[in-house]
Amino acid sequence: MNIGLVAHDAKKKLMQNLCIAYRGILSKNDLYATGTTGRLIEEVTNLSVHKYLSGHLGGTQQLGAQIEHNEIDLVIFLRDPLTQKSHEPDVNNIVRLCDAHNIPLATNLATAELLIKSLDRGDLEWREMYK
Ligand code: PGA
Repeated sequence: MNIGLVAHDAKKKLMQNLCIAYRGILSKNDLYATGTTGRLIEEVTNLSVHKYLSGHLGGTQQLGAQIEHNEIDLVIFLRDPLTQKSHEPDVNNIVRLCDAHNIPLATNLATAELLIKSLDRGDLEWREMYK
């Protein structure tokens, strides 16, 4: 499965810890992340990540384009709810595209863990039918 990963600055450490905790599961999948998020994940795990441009330079739009092309099966977008204003367009666009294409999306740690565990159980295999 192709997993999209984005973390706003206040959530990057959390994303690193999430990827450390679940690297066994994540390593069986293909990871796509915005530039800085991807680099930080690679720094603390042995995972290899396909890196888009940095979020503010178009990386979030690159992820959006892949979702539109049905190339992403699951998105974890750890957003910063406290400085929402400046990031709002990015988040809203990804949420809209995931809803339009029925892609599972987590925007917080609790849901991210649920989705990763369900991925490991094979609960997302229905995604293969859409390809
Ligand atoms: P980044 O992008 O991973 O390149 O920082 C995410 C963001 O827009 O904060």
